[in-house]
Amino acid sequence: MGKTDIKSMTVPELEELLSGYGQPRFRAGQLFKWLHSGVTDFDAMTDMPLKLREALKENCYIADVTVARRLQSEIDGTVKYLYRLSDGEYIESVLMKYEHGYTVCISTQVGCRMGCSFCASGINGLCRNLTPSEMLSQIMAAERDNNIRVSNVVMMGMGEPLDNFDNSVRFLQLVSDDKGMNIGLRHISLSTSGVVSGIEKLAEYNFPITLSVSLHAPNDEIRNSMMKVNRKWNVDTLLKACKAYQRVTTRRISFEYALIEGVNDSEACAKELAKRLKGIMCHINLIPANPVKENSFKKPDKNKILAFKQQLVSLGLNATVRRTLGADIDASCGQLRRRAKEVDGSDN
Ligand code: SAH
Ligand code: SF4
Repeated sequence: MGKTDIKSMTVPELEELLSGYGQPRFRAGQLFKWLHSGVTDFDAMTDMPLKLREALKENCYIADVTVARRLQSEIDGTVKYLYRLSDGEYIESVLMKYEHGYTVCISTQVGCRMGCSFCASGINGLCRNLTPSEMLSQIMAAERDNNIRVSNVVMMGMGEPLDNFDNSVRFLQLVSDDKGMNIGLRHISLSTSGVVSGIEKLAEYNFPITLSVSLHAPNDEIRNSMMKVNRKWNVDTLLKACKAYQRVTTRRISFEYALIEGVNDSEACAKELAKRLKGIMCHINLIPANPVKENSFKKPDKNKILAFKQQLVSLGLNATVRRTLGADIDASCGQLRRRAKEVDGSDN
């Protein structure tokens, strides 16, 4: 039997585990604190009995990620990481500095099976889900590498978090635990391509996170051409689910809209978008599309992007163009991993 992924366990689960070793309840909190302080070795837990540490070493492992590549922007200090996982797979993370602190963009899967046409992460499909501990470790590794504390997290790296639902929810519970990293749910965004079944389930948890929905198109015709997921849950179904989610959580929803030249950037698209989003308390995040080696999409020129934004604003919507960070290390999410895999000679 494989070892237990102890960093993915909640305090009550640790209590149960430790009671099996005849340990008092308070040890679970102590152990949780150690695990979430970023230690990678049971021997570092110096206030835990030696015998217990030995037993844990035998039966459990502490998940970690190691830095395989680190690219730092000379413009704004943004750091892009390629992390290596314990099974040799690679994932990407980005560390960004804002006025209010540091934000980490984490991956939730190795690869992705949603297959959006403009995205590098999904080109070879899904390899595997990340564990909650591997999600946490991406933040811990960035903190360790830069000697900083991270205050905000966006689940917007590789993968579809709602296609790895249970692990993503557990990650949210663990990362916000005040005995651990204590990053408030209000400081966390989860981005989905529009997995409606997941949005419905997530509403039941009523987390005060920000839900980001990658809409990218105002109608089914355009969205079908960009995102396979739209054939399962179309724009109407998705927006209905967003409204229902908002009724429960009362949180503003953020809609991502990647502007691609000649695809979804017309004035008509802006007007239709404004009409569709009527009645949803939201913010629209316009993202100039990142060119990906494997496709031919281009971003519109600056004036067109601003005109699109102005059109939305004049129709009463709250829209901004995403600030470009790390323009000089620009590699859209999924591309670093693809390059690493090319070098390794593997095709997933
Ligand atoms: N799977 C989730 C979260 C990860 S993708 C989702 O799709 O929402 C994070 C964001 O990056 C999404 O909004 C996605 O549509 C966007 N994205 C992916 N490839 C892009 C590209 N080449 N240019 C601009 N945005 C892109
Ligand atoms: Fe997956 Fe998101 Fe990329 Fe689509 S945009 S393939 S859902 S990671």
